[in-house]
Amino acid sequence: MALLGAIEAGGTKFVCGAGTGPADLISTQIRTTSPEETVAAAVTWMREKSAGRLRAVGIGSFGPVDLKTGHITSTPKARWRNFDLAGEVRRALGVPVVFDTDVNAAVLGEARWGAGRGFANCIYLTVGTGIGGGAIVEGKTVHGLTHPEMGHIRIPREAKDTFAGVCPYHGDCLEGLATGPAIEARWGAPGQDLPADHPAWDLEARYLALGVANYICTLSPGMIVIGGGVMRQTQLYEMIRAEVRRVLGGYIGKVPEIVPPGLGELSGVLGALALAEGAA
Ligand code: ZN
Repeated sequence: MALLGAIEAGGTKFVCGAGTGPADLISTQIRTTSPEETVAAAVTWMREKSAGRLRAVGIGSFGPVDLKTGHITSTPKARWRNFDLAGEVRRALGVPVVFDTDVNAAVLGEARWGAGRGFANCIYLTVGTGIGGGAIVEGKTVHGLTHPEMGHIRIPREAKDTFAGVCPYHGDCLEGLATGPAIEARWGAPGQDLPADHPAWDLEARYLALGVANYICTLSPGMIVIGGGVMRQTQLYEMIRAEVRRVLGGYIGKVPEIVPPGLGELSGVLGALALAEGAA
């Protein structure tokens, strides 16, 4: 039986998978070190698990990336800057490689097998060490000029919030105000140490809802999936839903569903597998 390969390339770990879908996926995690070492480990694993049956590999990568060439571009991780990730994997494994952002892969995975099934317009947002979003519009992932950077939109800040924000480019963009490191810098403790009723979460829900409302107004998604480490505070889902309704003010009659990933931690790697389907 032919197999597909999947790589969710992250800044701290690579999740590698092989299979044809959620039912038969096998996966492993490789720590992200140098590009050469990390890719070699991923390729070795893929060769062992596929035993010559590999048809194509999908890669969902941390960024920013150049989707046309398959390179990682201006990352603060110096050794990965301008690294030809898609090309290295293609040359090593000798199969077609489909390359996209990690969040576009995740939205594809959710649309193929998870919470986004049946929705032609769907968004996946991750809120963790950064904020990123992938979008499917009319059944296709959005690329365009480069790729969407949904975490870096500007939102109105709360009058009482004097925190400068942590984005090195914009300060108080959505990522700057609401990412995991922003929570830790603003409140002096990482989010996982703050109780569920801490005021941090009201502010977090407010900012995320402002972002989500903007995506609703611009992309008209039927489903919004939100994952990432910050969302382990599961009380946020209902807080965001309520705040989105408030922000939209009844203007958009049908507010989309806002849910956790249907595929749990596997949206990214299964999304990379879904990318590979396009080339197999
Ligand atoms: Zn920014």
